[in-house]
Amino acid sequence: VEADDRSAFVRVVRDFIERHVQDQAGVLDERAQFPRAALGGLAALGATALTVPLRHGGIGADTQTYVEVLEEIAAGSIALAGTYMVHMTVTSLLAGHGTDAQIARWLPRLLDDSVGAMAMTEADAGSDLRGIRGTATDTEDGFRLNATKMFITSGGEADVYVVLLRHGEGTSLFVVERGTPGLSFGPPLRKMGYSGSPTTAVVLDDVLVERDRLLGVPGKGLQSMLATLDHGRIGVGAMAVGLARRALDVAYGYLCQRRQFGQELIEFQGLQFMAADMRIQVEAARQLVRLAAATRDAGERHTEQAAMAKLFATDAAMRVTTDAVQLLGGYGYTREYPVERYMREAKMLQIVEGTNQIQRVVISRQMRELYARSTA
Ligand SMILES: Cc1cc2nc3c(=O)[nH]c(=O)nc-3n(C[C@H](O)[C@H](O)[C@H](O)COP(=O)(O)OP(=O)(O)OC[C@H]3O[C@@H](n4cnc5c(N)ncnc54)[C@H](O)[C@@H]3O)c2cc1C
Repeated sequence: VEADDRSAFVRVVRDFIERHVQDQAGVLDERAQFPRAALGGLAALGATALTVPLRHGGIGADTQTYVEVLEEIAAGSIALAGTYMVHMTVTSLLAGHGTDAQIARWLPRLLDDSVGAMAMTEADAGSDLRGIRGTATDTEDGFRLNATKMFITSGGEADVYVVLLRHGEGTSLFVVERGTPGLSFGPPLRKMGYSGSPTTAVVLDDVLVERDRLLGVPGKGLQSMLATLDHGRIGVGAMAVGLARRALDVAYGYLCQRRQFGQELIEFQGLQFMAADMRIQVEAARQLVRLAAATRDAGERHTEQAAMAKLFATDAAMRVTTDAVQLLGGYGYTREYPVERYMREAKMLQIVEGTNQIQRVVISRQMRELYARSTA
């Protein structure tokens, strides 16, 4: 993607977010309202087609464009950014692993107004997905699916679910549409934040599906999933950058307005330094995310870069949003200002798409591999 095209598209998204999303994000969160209309607006701009290859009717943009777009969306609404990101994971799994018939059947709908969800986690299998118990068994003309999935983003709202299940000796991915008999949803979990994005249990009770619902290579579902995780981690890093950037903007604006001891708060050097440290965190996080994206675009292995970007950026977002609350004093702790919400949203980013402990596990494993190779 040419730099000019990239920045033009990013500007269009930023404009949309500033006009239609940013100021409503707090209200939607209070009402726990699913951002379907805003997602539709992004689809109208072409953002849901962004990373879909040209041959499948997409824009075919690179990961570097994707992370800049995600940063803009997250700066306006984390609920919208998370919904969008999960949707894009479903779209890229389908475009990457689907047969022509599967792509023709579901992709146009996902590029239009259908919403996608990913169901991997179960109550007893989160970080360790090898421990999932949900099963798919072969029937005469298809499969019988049974599972209780947990913590599923857009559960109950999404139209298309990609579900990871035990199947034969391995695991496989299945596409299940909302409305399929036997598919049901728990109520939205009562979370500490991120309320505009519903997170629910997804129950498959003897769901019977046809053979064409199996996505990708039978028995290799987890491998296909794990391959998209690197992409997802870079995406969560980009969300964290957007959130931290926004928190800093709000806090800095406040420092320049609020007066105590006869001067603006920004005149206190201690507070200037806090703001400077926040700025460094945002920029360092952004550069790690962009490095991971560029490595991916170059076709190189990027598992370690993706883990570093996710870990560093989400920890940075936690620090920056916490400092933003501090800088707004008592007002920061109230819902009159958005920074307390940003702080609650940042916590979620440290947990999803592999917790930050799991990112350290990934980085440590890469270090050991590299050392073993260098001494072999
Ligand atoms: C808001 C939200 C949205 C989500 N959306 C989805 C979704 O759309 N689809 C989906 O499938 N899942 C989703 N998840 C689930 C999410 O991916 C899991 O919560 C996450 O992977 C952690 O799993 P767990 O909650 O079971 O924690 P556990 O795996 O039980 O971890 C508990 C603690 O132990 C630590 N830990 C675990 N293993 C290790 C280890 N080897 N070394 C060191 N520390 C370790 C963890 O870091 C954590 O601190 C979502 C979760 C949330 C909160």
